[in-house]
Amino acid sequence: MRKDVRILLVGEPKVGKTSLIMSLVSEEFPQVVPYRAEEITIPADVTPERVPTHIVDYSEAEQTDEQLSSEISKANVICIVYAVNNKKSIEKVTSHWIPLINDNTDKDSRVPVILVGNKSDLVEHSSMETILPVMNQYTEIETCVECSAKNLKNISELFYYAQKAVLHPTGPLYCPEEKQMKPACIKALTRIFKVSDLDNDGILNDNELNFFQRTCFNAPLVSQALEDVKNVVRKNMIDGVCDNGLTLKGFLFLHTLFIQRGRHETTWTVLRRFGYDDDLELHQDYLFPLTLKVPPDCTTELNHNAYLFLQSVFDKHDKDRDCALSPEELKDLFDVFPYMPWGPDVNNTVCTNDEGWITYQGYLSQWTLTTYLDVQRCLEYLGYLGYSIISEQESQAVAITVTRDKKIDLQKKQTQRSVFRCNVFGDSGSGKSGFLQAFLGRNLTRQNTVSEEHMSYYAISTAYVYGQEKYLLLHEVFPDFDVLSDTDLACDIVCLVYDASNPHSFEYCARVFKQYFMDTKTPCMMIAAKSDLQEAKQLYALTPLEFCRKHKMPPPQAFTCNTADAPCKDIYTKLTTMAMHPHARLRCMCTCNRCTFCHLQNFINSELVQTVKAKLYTAILSRSLLFQRPSNSSSLESSLSLVLPSCSVPTLHVTQADLKSSTFWLRVSAGATVFAVLGFAMYRVLLKQR
Ligand code: GDP
Ligand code: MG
Repeated sequence: MRKDVRILLVGEPKVGKTSLIMSLVSEEFPQVVPYRAEEITIPADVTPERVPTHIVDYSEAEQTDEQLSSEISKANVICIVYAVNNKKSIEKVTSHWIPLINDNTDKDSRVPVILVGNKSDLVEHSSMETILPVMNQYTEIETCVECSAKNLKNISELFYYAQKAVLHPTGPLYCPEEKQMKPACIKALTRIFKVSDLDNDGILNDNELNFFQRTCFNAPLVSQALEDVKNVVRKNMIDGVCDNGLTLKGFLFLHTLFIQRGRHETTWTVLRRFGYDDDLELHQDYLFPLTLKVPPDCTTELNHNAYLFLQSVFDKHDKDRDCALSPEELKDLFDVFPYMPWGPDVNNTVCTNDEGWITYQGYLSQWTLTTYLDVQRCLEYLGYLGYSIISEQESQAVAITVTRDKKIDLQKKQTQRSVFRCNVFGDSGSGKSGFLQAFLGRNLTRQNTVSEEHMSYYAISTAYVYGQEKYLLLHEVFPDFDVLSDTDLACDIVCLVYDASNPHSFEYCARVFKQYFMDTKTPCMMIAAKSDLQEAKQLYALTPLEFCRKHKMPPPQAFTCNTADAPCKDIYTKLTTMAMHPHARLRCMCTCNRCTFCHLQNFINSELVQTVKAKLYTAILSRSLLFQRPSNSSSLESSLSLVLPSCSVPTLHVTQADLKSSTFWLRVSAGATVFAVLGFAMYRVLLKQR
């Protein structure tokens, strides 16, 4: 919203400009007035639109032409005053004042003009007949009003119209010559309609209309009002109402009607609520909220509510319910965007179905990728989809979780992240792209159908680690050794890919490792790609296996994407597991999900055990607090009870009640621990036998 409004009054001498201002201020007609009234400022809370308003007078006797020009260019709205009983003052409106104003203002941002016919107390008939043709001729004239400083008629109305002309200008919305809304306004309202059409059936039903109404005007429409609105549309056009809901045509008609009836502030309220500024562009503050700060070593992820919202957007556009977006469905989904955000490379970044269409899972993966790599862009996209409006949030920024500093994760040996980045290094031709594409379930035959320019340097999908779904983001690093940037090096895990059938391929991996990763804590994994081909002896001082042993890496993992079906995904689960637990050694990280170790891991991570663990902690913690309380006066609890003596008693009761029930949990958890220890011993025995 604007911070203030500046109204300037101009016109021939003696038409009553100064009297109008004085009448407004003192609410009575002044018998004697100066040539020019002092500039006055009306505070925000007494104006109808709650914006501070400055009113500026002009007097030919006291001001020079330069001063007038300067005032015209400073004004937000100009009232040209004439006296209804003075023909000459009316003629001067078109012969002098409008041209003068146009000379002093920008052609592109014309200042709105209001024609004011003063001294209406002196004549019987109205001056409107003379004025209406003038209004039609000059589009910058917002409105005209007849008033009388003497009878105080229409005085506050005049200043209200002036304020409204600035705050809710007609210019960007409506073309008076063509008697219809301007294209930019139609475009904006169409987007608003699509965002509000929650089930995407092309009709705003009663629920959607009510939601719309509540969002824009903070109040639902009573059902009679809803019917009245629909009836007005029904009466005026054939297909404005369909299945008892408002169609896009009806919605646009309604807004045209608002504007034509001078109620364009209604349309402006809707537009502003959906993020538009005075030029009908989406506001920068709406698309790029500044509240989001991402410190270094932190990453950005979408939170649960944002995923739910994106899921609903997907559902509303997946009309044939095949869990994938056909090109038409995708186009429809991005119809509310000013441009198509996803190019053909996205189809090679995320999972697609047999037809090459982005699946539900692929769609969420792409959003996850954008959030991770370019959070500003993600916010912008969410803005186009109307996230903050539909989910009734303050800004798009609430969709984002900024993860905690990775250094803390490493210290605590656990992470809350759900997206892990794996940078893939390897000489050209070593099989990096094949490795990325195989993660999306594509074998070599399928990969060969993709054209070179649609290839992507990213692949993202999910992997299950001990029962939890995580995103693994693979990034193929360009093999030119000298241009490795910080982002090429920063990741949660490194993949070093060599072509097992090419004797020159391993050296590159060894070189990258020694130069960049040998002294870091980032876990590394060697991949022996193209394992379906004849293995060649690598021309390097050490064999890959020896190299890995020497540098405490897991042994090279044989990998091929030249398979009949989708390539095996175990390696990606392994990578994700390593990325999640960078401090652990891989040999204690089987991820097959079949052996005893995995079953045990799954059990330990299960909700039951976690709850038992949490309960146990609370019980022990509260018991120690209980023992501390009487003796230790420095504890937080007791210092609190000093400040708030009444609150210490109930706290004590709660802890005692908790302790009683915790004996049950103690027994359960002791049982679980015994079970876990036994299971693990058995696993070790089995392992030895093998
Ligand atoms: P300005 O030169 O445009 O500022 O005009 P003034 O405010 O000085 O008014 C010029 C004369 O018109 C004064 O004698 C006012 O009393 C008179 N006047 C102003 N407004 C009205 C009005 O609404 N009705 C009548 N009858 N006289 C008015
Ligand atoms: Mg005056």
